[in-house]
Amino acid sequence: MLMTAAQYEESLRKLNLKVYMFGKRVENVVDDPIIRPSMNAVAATYEFAHMPEYEDLMTATSHITGKKINRFCHIHQNTEDLVKKTKMGRLLGSKTGCCFQRCVGMDAMNALSITTYNIDEKYGTSYYNNFLKYLEYVQENDLVCDGAMTDPKGDRSLPPHKQPDPDMFMHVVEETEDGIIVSGAKAHQTGAVNSHEIIIMPTISMREEDRDYAVSFAVPSDTEGITYIMGRQSCDLRKLESGTIDRGNQYYGGHEALVVFDRVFVPKDRIFMLREHEFAGQLVEQFASYHRQSYACKAGVGDVLIGAAQTIAEYNGANKASHVKDKIIEMNHLNETLFCGSVACAAEGHKEPSGTYLVNTLLANVCKQNVTRFPYEIARLAQDIAGGLMVTLPSEADYRSEEIGKWIEKYYKADNSVSTENRMRMLRLIENITLGTAAVGYLTESMHGAGSPQAQRIMIARQVNLKEKQDVAKKLCGIKE
Ligand code: SF4
Ligand code: FE
Repeated sequence: MLMTAAQYEESLRKLNLKVYMFGKRVENVVDDPIIRPSMNAVAATYEFAHMPEYEDLMTATSHITGKKINRFCHIHQNTEDLVKKTKMGRLLGSKTGCCFQRCVGMDAMNALSITTYNIDEKYGTSYYNNFLKYLEYVQENDLVCDGAMTDPKGDRSLPPHKQPDPDMFMHVVEETEDGIIVSGAKAHQTGAVNSHEIIIMPTISMREEDRDYAVSFAVPSDTEGITYIMGRQSCDLRKLESGTIDRGNQYYGGHEALVVFDRVFVPKDRIFMLREHEFAGQLVEQFASYHRQSYACKAGVGDVLIGAAQTIAEYNGANKASHVKDKIIEMNHLNETLFCGSVACAAEGHKEPSGTYLVNTLLANVCKQNVTRFPYEIARLAQDIAGGLMVTLPSEADYRSEEIGKWIEKYYKADNSVSTENRMRMLRLIENITLGTAAVGYLTESMHGAGSPQAQRIMIARQVNLKEKQDVAKKLCGIKE
């Protein structure tokens, strides 16, 4: 079934999540003014699926039930599906101007559809069956899943089993007749409190000694023993103010949370990996590759930022200057290059033994490596074009003040045909994406999400065939060894 945005919101109200923010339990998560914009962004993934013009990108046909489902619940069946996934990410980024959070679950499910099958092939286990049953449940109910990989990791020089505190990596603490009990935490969880389910995956390759840490499973997000601690974002308190200008983006946002698992029970049929340590690395690499592809979302947010930069140039009366025009061209060039990487790794995807299509992992890593850089440069150019007022602008309350508002109106007027208020709104939007709440997703998340830059460099080094390149170079200049 396809839920509507309203049904999605209602479904969240039924969850009993234990969420903390600013030291207090959040009683009404859905209506909390700080969290709500992030819920709106996920709701857009439902809303767009019902629009005829986006149906082709936003929906797919389930390979297990044959029914029409949201693409975020789909297992990619060919390279066309992968390319549509890229385009869906860009579309939603370009409409929301922020992180819409639902990709992590999609990427986790696709990675698990490959790894569970491979484990079963080797050990005769039934993880793939568990997974398919779970997938059908997610597809039938059109759920949001938090794909949770990143453990706190403690002392980075030590493997999981050597950590002084064993909870630094999610692990099995007890095995019962009908399941397992796990403890640990997952950090930086995108969209966690807007999710119906959490899918846990290991965060690094594991050795034999780490087998209790090689565990993957899914549980409902309001399972007993799970606590969410909201991450705060730069300028988050502006969402509590009565005015709206200073928020920048009026509708949408993202969020991350620390998710703590304190002796959480997982039933047997929800387990996708249990101590098959040699498959942990594969699952990490596949999830990471899919998520590195997902960063087409950044090109979508880039679309919004470029639109804002061009508009503020016009409002300032600077749009005809040749260097401004050139900066806009450069922003577009960088932004489309981001998109190219995501399309390329999708178009060059291949079929895995389970039937799932996986992106080209070398190109996915190149795509993400660009994402760690280009949004920063695009943001730099946007700030260059916007001018310093973006960060020295007085508050909306000053603008509305009966005594001094007139001075802001007068002195912050630029192009006479544009209202001061609209100029302020556009500057605040650029501030929001490059320094405020949305900068979490557009900048720092571009750096560290789906793995920090060095993780991609290691993968690039591992996957290029240097020897072959050397052989051709030697042959062409007549070297015989
Ligand atoms: Fe999706 Fe982008 Fe948010 Fe990651 S950062 S969850 S890819 S929108
Ligand atoms: Fe991410």
